[in-house]
Amino acid sequence: MPVTVVIGSQWGDEGKGKIVDLISQDADIVARYQGGANAGHTICWDDKEFVLHLVPSGIFQEGVDCVIGNGVVIDPVAVLKEIEMIRELGYEVEGRLHISHNAHLIMPYHKKVEEARENWRDAGAIGTTGRGIGPAYVDKFARTGIRVVDLLDRDVLRKKLIISMEEKNAILQNVYGAEKLDVEAIIEEYVEFDKLIDPYVTDTTEYLCRSLKEGKHVLAEGAQGSLLDVDFGTYPFVTSSHPTVGGCCTGLGIPPTSITRIIGIVKAYSTRVGNGPFPTELEDEYGEELRKTGNEFGATTGRPRRCGWLDLVALKYTTMINGFTELAITKLDVLSNLDKIEVCTGYVVDGNTTQRFPSDIRTLERVRPVYETLPGWNEDITGITRLEDLPSTARDYLTFISDFLDVPQRLISSGPKREQTILV
Ligand code: GDP
Repeated sequence: MPVTVVIGSQWGDEGKGKIVDLISQDADIVARYQGGANAGHTICWDDKEFVLHLVPSGIFQEGVDCVIGNGVVIDPVAVLKEIEMIRELGYEVEGRLHISHNAHLIMPYHKKVEEARENWRDAGAIGTTGRGIGPAYVDKFARTGIRVVDLLDRDVLRKKLIISMEEKNAILQNVYGAEKLDVEAIIEEYVEFDKLIDPYVTDTTEYLCRSLKEGKHVLAEGAQGSLLDVDFGTYPFVTSSHPTVGGCCTGLGIPPTSITRIIGIVKAYSTRVGNGPFPTELEDEYGEELRKTGNEFGATTGRPRRCGWLDLVALKYTTMINGFTELAITKLDVLSNLDKIEVCTGYVVDGNTTQRFPSDIRTLERVRPVYETLPGWNEDITGITRLEDLPSTARDYLTFISDFLDVPQRLISSGPKREQTILV
C-alpha cells in the first residue's frame, strides 16, 4: 500500500507544485490533504505557467485521478473556477476529480469575518490571505461548520446556516462594526454550487483505502510548509491546519502504515510570506537578489516574499517531526552567481549556541543565527540535468545539506520546468 507524501519543509513556496507534477507521472492518484485555496502551486511546461490552488496538479497527468480530501476547506467558487480552467486546457475532470463529502466549505461569512478581524487587529494582524480559510477551520472545530454533504439537503443547510449566521452577523455588526450578511442569498448561491459540484463528490476515504488495497500508488500533497503547521510551526504566525505528515492521515483518512516515502521539499534558501519570526532573513542586497532571481512573489497574492539564507536548524526540526526519507532540493539555480552562500547551522540564544529550534516565537525572534560560509559558483546552472555537470561548489552545497540533515537527496531542481531536474 504505497503512499508517498510530499511535504514543504520550510514556510511554504518551496516549489512543491513542480515536484508533485513530476512524481505524479508514476502515481495513480494524487491527493491533497489540508489547507484551502490560499496556497498556489505553480507548474510550468511548454513555456506556459499554470497556478492551481485546490485541485492537485496531478490533474494534468493522463491516467492520474485526483482527490481533495476531508482535511481541505473548500471554496466552491474557487474550485469551480479551477475545474473550468483545467477543462478549457483540454483535460477531462469529471470521473477523475474526487471531492470528499466530509470536507468543510468556506462560506461568504468566513471571508467577511477574517477581513473584519484582520482590520480590527491591525498591528497584530497575522497577515492572512483573506480567503476565509482560518474561520472555516474555526467553525470545523467549533462543530458549527458546513460540510459538502450538507449541500445535499436544502432544509438541513438552511437550519445550519441560520444558526451559524445569527452568531456571525452579531459578531460582524457588534464587535467589528461590519455589515451583516443575508442568509437566503447564501442558501440560493450554495444550492446552485451543489448542482455543479455534485458529480465530483464522493466518500474519498473509502475510495483511497480501496485503491490502496488494489495496490495503487497514492501521492499525497500538503500545501504550505511544516513551519506553518498550527501545532509545530511558529505559532501564532501559522496556518490553520497540519501541513506536516500527520495531517496526511487525518486529512485523507488513510492509515499511517500505508506511508512508505516522505519527501521533504527544501528550497535552496529560505522565504517567508507575511508576519512572524524569520531568523535568517536578509534585508540587504543578497535578500533582494534572491527575491529577484527566485521571483519570490506570492503565486496567489503577488505579495513579495521575505528572503534569507538556508536555515538548517529549522530544517533539522522539520526533518525530525516529519521523518523525511528523502529530500528534493529546489531552486538551486537561483543561487547561481553569488560570490558566497551562507548556511545557518546553529542559533545563539542568551549567549549559548544551540541546534534546537525554539518552541516559542519570543525566543525565535531573538536568536542570532550562526552561519557557515560556503563558496558560490560563478556560472548559471539553470537546466542542468546531471549531478556531475554541476560545479563542484554546488555539489558541495547539496552534500552539506543532506549530511547535516542526515537524509539522502534524491531530486535536485535546476529550473521551473519539468525537464530542468536532476535525479540522484
Ligand atoms: P509551492 O507552493 O511549494 O508549489 O511553490 P510555488 O509554486 O508558490 O513557488 C514555486 C515557484 O518557483 C514557481 O513559480 C515555480 O515555477 C518555481 N520553481 C520551482 N522549482 C524551481 C527551480 O528549481 N528553479 C526556479 N528558478 N524556479 C522554480
